[in-house]
Amino acid sequence: MKILVMGPPGAGKGSQSAKIVKSYNIPSISTGQMFREAYKNNESMGIEAMEYIKNGNLVSDQITNKIVKHRLHRYDTERSFLLDGYPRTVRQAVALDEMLENMGTKLDAVINILSSNDVLFERMENRRVCKKCGATYHLIFKKPSISGVCDLCSGELYQREDDTLESVKRRLEIYETKTKPLLDYYEKKGILYNINGMQPFDNVYADIELVLREL
Ligand code: AMP
Repeated sequence: MKILVMGPPGAGKGSQSAKIVKSYNIPSISTGQMFREAYKNNESMGIEAMEYIKNGNLVSDQITNKIVKHRLHRYDTERSFLLDGYPRTVRQAVALDEMLENMGTKLDAVINILSSNDVLFERMENRRVCKKCGATYHLIFKKPSISGVCDLCSGELYQREDDTLESVKRRLEIYETKTKPLLDYYEKKGILYNINGMQPFDNVYADIELVLREL
């Protein structure tokens, strides 16, 4: 099962992806997570990437394609993987197709989680992320048991550098102009599945499962 999960920032692709990889026991390739990890570890790539990220911009295709290529060459991606947040531009999608072709494989499905801008703003304002394990919370709908502390690993919760109002606006703009054209790209390949992301978490997941069961 080789799948890609797409959606505007705040649509829930990170949380849904986390559930899919856990249920199906497949590796997750999240470029956003890889950038945050590299930044936390003081790696030069992470520091460079964070300059783009904190302003709500996309990291360059060159850096992004390179880390994905490197990650896809690890042995665990041979049978299955889930791409979360990559590709985000048509150039990245073309680069990905090339990487997969060279590996003798291709994507089976693109899951696109849809949501309205109001819902997206509200979600990102209330989103908190664990510094240690990356688990996400919502201050109203998915509160941690102890304020500011991760239920899973007791790590400290923080608001992402790019979840500020200005940055969120910019990310939504970029999504519209650069990432949305990808939907056409995958629709033409016949592998795009649209999912209504404005439902409770479990219902969104149930809709995704219906797609995955058919693969
Ligand atoms: P995410 O965790 O997927 O919301 O990503 C957080 C941020 O990392 C994005 O807003 C971008 O700045 C950057 N990023 C993640 N994935 C990509 C990508 N495929 N291309 C460019 N920038 C990315």
